[in-house]
Amino acid sequence: MKKVSVHCRNVRLSYGRTEVLKDVNLDIEPGEFFALLGPSGSGKSTLLRLIAGFNPHQHGQLLVDGKDVTGLPPWERNIGMVFQNYALWPHMTVWDNVAFGLVERRVEKAALRQRVGAALETVGLSAYGQRRPNQLSGGQQQRVALARTIVIEPQVLLLDEPLSNLDKTLRVQMRQELLALQRRLGITTIFVTHDQEEAMTTADRMAVLDKGVVQQVGTPAALYDHPVNTFVAGFVGTMN
Ligand code: ADP
Ligand code: MG
Repeated sequence: MKKVSVHCRNVRLSYGRTEVLKDVNLDIEPGEFFALLGPSGSGKSTLLRLIAGFNPHQHGQLLVDGKDVTGLPPWERNIGMVFQNYALWPHMTVWDNVAFGLVERRVEKAALRQRVGAALETVGLSAYGQRRPNQLSGGQQQRVALARTIVIEPQVLLLDEPLSNLDKTLRVQMRQELLALQRRLGITTIFVTHDQEEAMTTADRMAVLDKGVVQQVGTPAALYDHPVNTFVAGFVGTMN
């Protein structure tokens, strides 16, 4: 798979008179596992939805692989997003949940079967195709949500607090699984979290967001050793 870069240039977004994103600039390298860390309400989900194309464009530019995708609808962006609450179809089997996006794209039957099978295998759920989401554990549901996204073969993967619904032990385990999967696929990934330890232990580089402003971007070590302000120092420094 081709590894692509993602650039946000002067991205702004307001809801009414409330500015939620204020001149966000981010340069994400091809194949990078990039964490977006910030407290609740800092604008992380808004930024992710904007990159995916689910928020209306207001100001600024978004480049994927050097191409301007700012005006494109979500389905023309080649970006896959995993939502915090998974958003699986409860009435469909795991197999049908994963196949859904391919059916929508009118992928022919043999190719569809092959791709769904491969995606389920990638997340270790080959044996669970005929179950329904409510017959799975939280961790397994998370894997289905991942499979459903990677089966589309997106160039960019956006993960919105993908592990926050899991208990601590599973969260730590899934963190490593996620990173291993990302490395195997080589897919540029933006991983949103409010958990500083999660960001610090996984990310190639990370950005700290507060009140819609990117406070600092760098490797976890750089942010830990040389925070630019007290917010970053306090936020990155408190390991739990
Ligand atoms: P985070 O994901 O970092 O917790 P969000 O991006 O969800 O933050 O929200 C950032 C801010 O934007 C919050 O103050 C939130 O209340 C506000 N917000 C989010 N979505 C909407 C919306 N659809 N309408 C109005 N305000 C919103
Ligand atoms: Mg959020």
